[in-house]
Amino acid sequence: MTVATMDSSAVSDADSGEGLNASALVAGLRTYFHSGTTADPGWRRQQLGQLRKMLVDNERRFLEALEQDLHKAPLEAFMTEVSATCGDIDHALKHLKKWVQPRRASTPMVAQPGKSYIQPEPLGVVLIIGAWNYPLQLLLSPLVPAIAAGNCAVLKPSELAPATSALVAELLPRYLDSDAFAVVEGAVPETSALLEQRWDHILYTGGGKVGKIVMSAAARHLTPVTLELGGKSPCIVADDADIEVTARRIAWGKFTNAGQTCIAPDYLLCTRTTAERLLPAIERATRAMFGERPRDSKDYGRIINSRHAQRIANYIDDGEVAFGGETDIENRYIAPTLLRNVGLETAVMQEEIFGPVLPVIELDDFGQVEQFVNDREKPLALYVFTSSDSTANRLLARCSSGNACVNDCMMFMAAHELPFGGVGPSGMGAYHGEHGFRTFSHYKAVMKRSYLFDLDLRYAPFTARKFNLLRLLR
Ligand code: NAD
Repeated sequence: MTVATMDSSAVSDADSGEGLNASALVAGLRTYFHSGTTADPGWRRQQLGQLRKMLVDNERRFLEALEQDLHKAPLEAFMTEVSATCGDIDHALKHLKKWVQPRRASTPMVAQPGKSYIQPEPLGVVLIIGAWNYPLQLLLSPLVPAIAAGNCAVLKPSELAPATSALVAELLPRYLDSDAFAVVEGAVPETSALLEQRWDHILYTGGGKVGKIVMSAAARHLTPVTLELGGKSPCIVADDADIEVTARRIAWGKFTNAGQTCIAPDYLLCTRTTAERLLPAIERATRAMFGERPRDSKDYGRIINSRHAQRIANYIDDGEVAFGGETDIENRYIAPTLLRNVGLETAVMQEEIFGPVLPVIELDDFGQVEQFVNDREKPLALYVFTSSDSTANRLLARCSSGNACVNDCMMFMAAHELPFGGVGPSGMGAYHGEHGFRTFSHYKAVMKRSYLFDLDLRYAPFTARKFNLLRLLR
């Protein structure tokens, strides 16, 4: 375990959370926060610029670390981790001036002369807990709005992606103000020690089970949380969908990062007739991307560890393999796999798959899709492929989900102005762009009164004249 920060009393090489002096770490950051340095928009800009510089200067090392942790192809790692985070930074730099501005609000007659406005202010010291599947992006993308909003932050990368975690811990203090930001590496003991502390906000990305631990720890201090969780995201394909384009986009959405994406399509929902055309098309699209032997493709990822590889491999027994199905647990390889005839009570249809196995639920009638989705927990993402606007709109209106995309998978992530977050068991709160700035800010209501005159209406003694006047001014 390492702590990369400014205060040597908070640094420890001990192998457990006990070696981490989390309270000293937070106290140091809080003192710095109260110095007012982070409130200066110029400082925020400079820190965002430095974060970008860290990514650009060390692009090769980050791509190597991601290759080591997840066998990510350099192009994929660049697109989904490095470039995606740089895009967030650029967007924040472009809009920061507007975001930090106070917003005018109207002032009622009874408070005249006066003016009212809403002033965004930083929350203080925030904790960002990252997940392993996009170990760079899911750690740094939330940091961007935390900086933009003027906070100090502690980052806790996922221990399951050790190369990326170590690299962030090494580089971040070299580029950012280490009085304001720290990286704490480690696993459950370190995270637990951090969660004991009073934070001004916690943003956690990961599974719901740990999400509950985070939320109950936060409740002890009445700390607000943003929980970026997961779930089973349905992918609905209507009979009128363009099959070739749909198949290609689904294969991309499902098999990127070997299916270890929180917003990957979890299962396919279509009629039997559409399945007959769609499944061979997904197989063709997958072969076009990764060849006849995906295990030899440098562009196809590996599962994060053999425990998860075994978990995913077990799902394959829950249905009939339409294509794929090969596994090599030792080498963390699971082939892109389509499953048919899957029982609804099996694990593959009860748990979030988070791997490259795609079960297909074939319905007699497309009209059943809505109920199928609504009989289950609210998902993080909902995908609808159709040429009909009314089909898309009906499903969007009737099925709740954190995010939704019509005729593509995952691409809403690229739109900086869209909030990213779940609903119900798939999460709470959101970030990206200004939504992230809001997450890490308090919108303080301010009214400024003038000394010009002072109506005596609200002061006792309460007379009939005052009552009548008050009615008029209301
Ligand atoms: P993980 O194992 O990396 O855990 C996430 C973080 O929680 C890590 O930093 C880890 O150290 C910490 N943690 C683990 N156990 C803990 C405990 N007992 N107490 C305190 N902290 C603990 O990630 P995971 O949970 O395996 O991630 C997979 C899940 O995350 C999936 O459900 C996926 O859908 C979800 N996810 C969501 C998003 C999103 O943005 N909504 C993104 C990626 C992953």
